[in-house]
Amino acid sequence: MTIVQKFGGSSLADLEKLRRAASIVLEARRRGHSVVAVVSAAGDSTDELLDMARQIAPKPNQRELDALLSTGEQRSAALMAMMLESLGAPARSYTGWQAGVCTDGEHGAARLRLLVPERLHSALDAGVIPVVAGFQGLSPRGDITTLGRGGSDTTAAALAAGLGAGRCEIYTDVDGIYTADPRLVPRARRLPEIDFRDMLALARAGSQVLHPESVRLAMVNQVELWLLPAFRAAPGTKVAALPAERRPDFAGVTRDREQSTVTLVGKAVSPEAQPLLRYLLERSGVPALPGGAEAGCVSLKVAHAQLEEALVLIHDAVMETQE
Ligand code: ASP
Ligand code: MG
Repeated sequence: MTIVQKFGGSSLADLEKLRRAASIVLEARRRGHSVVAVVSAAGDSTDELLDMARQIAPKPNQRELDALLSTGEQRSAALMAMMLESLGAPARSYTGWQAGVCTDGEHGAARLRLLVPERLHSALDAGVIPVVAGFQGLSPRGDITTLGRGGSDTTAAALAAGLGAGRCEIYTDVDGIYTADPRLVPRARRLPEIDFRDMLALARAGSQVLHPESVRLAMVNQVELWLLPAFRAAPGTKVAALPAERRPDFAGVTRDREQSTVTLVGKAVSPEAQPLLRYLLERSGVPALPGGAEAGCVSLKVAHAQLEEALVLIHDAVMETQE
């Protein structure tokens, strides 16, 4: 089958990591799969480019900023193609526009409009591994666009859908999707699987593990999505359409630092839970105001300095009921 494998910046941070990422591609190929690799910019290079641009102008020209930021992924793609070739596999790098990723004209937050992956098909037919620069596309005016921070995930899911891939694997520096960010919530558990709807709600509420648009695209196109650790033998998390009985009552809790919200997600979560959660927080000295509330997803607004405390309080109280 065809598999799309996306490698995040932390998995490409230096040449040794790049070599190990390439060996993951080769391993899938040895198992008989056709692989399309999608790469992010190495390490913190997107932040570094952004920082340089902001030193020139606090609000850089959006068209030029996209032209600049897209170079990080292009660099990774060329290096990955060279690495694969050096390990004996034919590979070719493609920018977003060479790969046929067409978007609207919204610089910095472009939405995918159309995929014309002719060159990727030809490469695959010829037994060549296409390595696609993530996070970028071409506007209707022929300018370079970027898909928003974390947008390489979206490139991967879109290519998986457009190429009819059997699965889309997102390789990253975390072990999988957790009930909360394990760096902030010691009792967070890894989920072996999560439903698309819960993952989408978590991604929209600020969890940065997967870009929301990548989850939405995988969901509507029925692409099985996997979040996998790049350099550890761990099972990761499958994101799929789960039957109701496998979908947990509570999938997870996340926080959004910009919105200053904490959000609880899961099939048993309803708007009626909002006053209860608010009471739970206020009882522990965390004043909270109601945020958005709908079936499956309830948010509370909390002072910025108390976000992490609120995350732990809600997580531990709610998850306890599931154990
Ligand atoms: N390099 C871009 C970012 O840092 C896109 C991505 O990594 O997905 O946001
Ligand atoms: Mg990411």
